[in-house]
Amino acid sequence: SEEEPCTGVRYRLCAALSSASPPEMLRGKRVIVTGASSGIGEQMAYHLARMGAHVLLTARTEAKLQKVVEKCLDLGAASARYVSGSMESTAFAEEVVKEAENIWGGLDMLILNHIGRSYFNFFNGDVDHVRKLMETNFLSYLAMTTSALPMLKESEGNIVVVSSISGKVASPFVAPYSATKFALEGFFSSLRHEFIIEKVNVSITLCILGYINTENAVRAVSHIIKKAPAPKEECAMEIIRSGALRQRELHYPASTVTPTLLLRDLAPEFLDGLVRNNMRVENIKRP
Ligand code: NDP
Repeated sequence: SEEEPCTGVRYRLCAALSSASPPEMLRGKRVIVTGASSGIGEQMAYHLARMGAHVLLTARTEAKLQKVVEKCLDLGAASARYVSGSMESTAFAEEVVKEAENIWGGLDMLILNHIGRSYFNFFNGDVDHVRKLMETNFLSYLAMTTSALPMLKESEGNIVVVSSISGKVASPFVAPYSATKFALEGFFSSLRHEFIIEKVNVSITLCILGYINTENAVRAVSHIIKKAPAPKEECAMEIIRSGALRQRELHYPASTVTPTLLLRDLAPEFLDGLVRNNMRVENIKRP
């Protein structure tokens, strides 16, 4: 019936029944994108702008955000603004949501995408770094979700959580990062259950990404990872599409992520060997 929320197993059915394509579905929608000054977040901002959405972008670097906002307006965004600040503070995370409430009086989609800086190397024992990364990559996601929930309930909107294959399958040299991404899966999967139990019609999409060709990722790992990265533009579009279609999970690129996840449960030690074999471990320079 029309009153029943479109949750759980109904996500895909609702998506299949919807005749509108994601670009049409997003016209005039109010969307927050975090980590939008570079990489995949920046590309998501441009796609949303072309689709005619209202965008509120955030990251730390104001000069970069200004440029992204200008380009979004050129590309046809219904409106584009930014708030700059660091997600190390949950107060700032809440402030961004408050800004959406002030300017739009509501919210349709919350795309949680930012990550704090970490290192690609053997775990160095710095527990404080892990704590800070948890604040930025995990707790700020919770703070934004909590603040945005009343507006998302009202709009029957979408939460999109950008995670990683490192949040499902551990690989070496990313222990702090991997911990924050595993935490996201636990928290948001539990929350999804609760939404279904309470008939809250807000979708949660977890995006499991493989290696993507953003400047920062390529700089950090191209000398170690043997395989080629997937394109950030297509990745950004797939994230928006999966959120708009209320999918439970996105695997991108599916050709590598989906088989990896199957192997994780069927043959974990074999998979661990493959993970290490796909790296030029000899290129890791201990600090
Ligand atoms: P980038 O490093 O290109 O972008 C990160 C964004 O986060 C930037 O806009 C950056 O802007 C912002 N940011 C960094 N620190 C903070 C902070 N303390 N507070 C607020 N914002 C901050 O990342 P990618 O585009 O490569 O990654 C985007 C998402 O995709 C992440 O969640 C990542 O884990 C995931 N992913 C990426 C993969 C890849 O290979 N690229 C693989 C798997 C997952 P600024 O510095 O101005 O604050």
